[in-house]
Amino acid sequence: MQGKIIKGVGGLYEVDTDDGIYSCRAKGIFRKRHIKPLIGDNVEIEVLSGCEKQGVISDIKERFNELIRPNVANVDLALIIFALKDPVPNFVTLDKMILQYRYQKIPVDICFNKDDLAGDDFAKEVLDNYSGFGGRVLTVSAKNDSGIDEVRGLISGKLVTVAGPSGAGKSSIINCLCKESISEVGEISEKLSRGRHTTRHSEIIPVDKDTYIIDTPGFGSFELFDIKDWQLSEYYEEFKSHLGCRFTPCSHTHEPGCMVKSAVKEGMIPQMRYDNYVHIYEEAKKARRY
Ligand code: GDP
Ligand code: ZN
Repeated sequence: MQGKIIKGVGGLYEVDTDDGIYSCRAKGIFRKRHIKPLIGDNVEIEVLSGCEKQGVISDIKERFNELIRPNVANVDLALIIFALKDPVPNFVTLDKMILQYRYQKIPVDICFNKDDLAGDDFAKEVLDNYSGFGGRVLTVSAKNDSGIDEVRGLISGKLVTVAGPSGAGKSSIINCLCKESISEVGEISEKLSRGRHTTRHSEIIPVDKDTYIIDTPGFGSFELFDIKDWQLSEYYEEFKSHLGCRFTPCSHTHEPGCMVKSAVKEGMIPQMRYDNYVHIYEEAKKARRY
């Protein structure tokens, strides 16, 4: 029988199958080969007891990606949730998060929450700045339940990791998403608050058939870990149609004849995204020197 691992604690895995959730251990062969089953793994299980819902994981399907934090396999989408106001959005942090996911080959969509608190002009400016980043951008309000159907559309049929600063409204949005499809909202909130305090094992929340959310525990700051300064610009979708700088490679920061810089001047690349790029580039360059 096939299924997806949705939880793993102390060598015991919960596998979501068409016949409900099975509690499984992994065959010894995986330990011998140093393969650790991960949340998100699509697996084959041998049923030990159908009525007690117990089984053994006998095969792990090939992973198409593996996210490091949280350690989850086969992530279809990273949904980044930021508030437009309360807390004030830190766009450098947002841009670092986008970079980190794109580097790990995980598609990114952005959801700007608390639309009800922000002025229309600011919301429009933010949408304009991110319109070309390479994924979908939505403004929503968990409070008014506005835009939630659109979010549901984005995540449908996917394994989604949700991340963003604490206070942005991640739990509120996840609760809105769960409300219609699952009646046990209480259980969801309970799962959420438990997940919040245990950074060690994250848990998948089944939102709908074949739709799963992993809530990333809130973070204070977000640092880039692997991407080198000279690689950063590859992950800017906005820069892609403005290549052909005079110097190669070009860092797009100080070089004369830089096509990216002239595109910024002509208003074809948002100034804010570019300024943050330069900031992140300098930071990455400094980190490399130490
Ligand atoms: P999390 O830390 O990202 O999970 O954020 P929460 O979901 O706990 O929300 C933080 C605070 O913002 C709570 O007091 C929510 O009631 C409030 N909040 C969440 N979404 C909205 C929204 O769309 N509008 C407003 N005005 N407040 C919201
Ligand atoms: Zn350049």
